[in-house]
Amino acid sequence: MSADRDLPSTCRVAVVGGGAAGFFAAIACAEADGGPVVLLEKSSQLLAKVKISGGGRCNVTHACFDPGVLVTCYPRGGRELRGPLHHFQPTDTIAWFEARGVKLKTEADGRMFPITDRSETIIQCLMDAASASGAEIFTRTGLIRADRSAAGFRLALDGNRTLDADHIILATGGPRAATGGPAVAAALGHTLSEPVPSLFTFHIEDERLKGLAGVAVERARARVVDAAFDETGPVLITHWGVSGPAILRLSAWGARWMHKRDYDFSIRVNWVGAQTRDDMMRDLRTMKETKAKKLVAGDPAFAIPARLWERLALAAGIRAETRWAHVEREALLAFAEQLTAGEFQVRGKSMNKEEFVTCGGVNLREVDVRTMESRRCPGLYFAGEILDIDGITGGYNFQSAWTTGWIAGHAAAAKASA
Ligand SMILES: Cc1cc2nc3c(=O)[nH]c(=O)nc-3n(C[C@H](O)[C@H](O)[C@H](O)COP(=O)(O)OP(=O)(O)OC[C@H]3O[C@@H](n4cnc5c(N)ncnc54)[C@H](O)[C@@H]3O)c2cc1C
Repeated sequence: MSADRDLPSTCRVAVVGGGAAGFFAAIACAEADGGPVVLLEKSSQLLAKVKISGGGRCNVTHACFDPGVLVTCYPRGGRELRGPLHHFQPTDTIAWFEARGVKLKTEADGRMFPITDRSETIIQCLMDAASASGAEIFTRTGLIRADRSAAGFRLALDGNRTLDADHIILATGGPRAATGGPAVAAALGHTLSEPVPSLFTFHIEDERLKGLAGVAVERARARVVDAAFDETGPVLITHWGVSGPAILRLSAWGARWMHKRDYDFSIRVNWVGAQTRDDMMRDLRTMKETKAKKLVAGDPAFAIPARLWERLALAAGIRAETRWAHVEREALLAFAEQLTAGEFQVRGKSMNKEEFVTCGGVNLREVDVRTMESRRCPGLYFAGEILDIDGITGGYNFQSAWTTGWIAGHAAAAKASA
């Protein structure tokens, strides 16, 4: 890897972007004799997102091995990913890393990590594989423009450098800025859907949640009041609102809708998961009869953490010193409502530091997903987050990068050596 070493003036395949997708594409292409392959990274750091991914542990993929099920975890691009996942899916990811000495393990929720629990293990593996494949890597070498030329493409790079490439694989990541990869794709005939954030947490200022940061409910159900987004799973109360897998999934499915509303909307939370308000009312009546002398606030049930239970009771008008026997029907009804359908006003969002992703990117209708080659500009390929594909949290975003990178690399190699 070098910024000082002279860049060759030509190559068969130029892979642009030294992230997960770019590395996978470059390695696949070079291993399949598509060389010479050159990997260009604009910054000084390779695989920067892999490093910070999964809280520094790198959630490499998800233990879901049926492409038909896997695609349901992609709010955008799932339908188009189905075919590619039949060629390279999580079993292939596991085998790919294992063949290069990296074992993955599965956690209870299906997320897969290297057994070392360190993202450096994945980085080292990708660096070693790239080096063994013969792909040449250049950092501080950003792509500014790509023009069609007789042989393929002439790339204009940082520092007034140029490179002639027969084929390009664009893997520049989420298209947050219009420059760089997105601008190159647009100049070569592509349209990109508007980039908006996905996988974020919700800002909620509400007395019921104040001071409860860190309290988690294992199986809550969160629904958006004015839209059909509905997720069940862990919900975590934070200093500024709510987070956790159920909330992150809501943010992924609702990314565009929430963006349009400027992140100002209401959600209903059922802290007990599946139970309806009527079921809850029946259970609360039984508790009133059987626990008459006990304090309601001091008697949490349904696996709801004590402090949250107490707050929800208070929101229903049941004070800390109230015993079950003295709870009126209206208060019982209000408590059932708080437990199963409490409404919370969301005003704003925060980045989820463990994993976030951009919704939007190169329009998939313009890409042949069997090869990841552009339908608008032959010889141009795409891989990773620059495409309009994004998954919920849990390893799905890297899986999409591995799958599209692997396919683009092989397809470009086949064309390059034809
Ligand atoms: C904090 C965080 C944690 C995450 N954790 C996980 C996780 O555990 N599991 C998971 O599945 N997903 C995770 N993700 C999402 C995942 O990291 C991305 O989906 C994935 O990295 C996308 O890979 P990529 O190669 O397409 O893009 P990137 O990783 O963004 O790489 C693109 C590269 O291209 C370079 N580049 C951009 N423009 C140019 C240019 N003009 N010329 C040359 N180079 C250029 C960039 O500098 C960058 O290095 C996480 C994301 C974040 C932000």
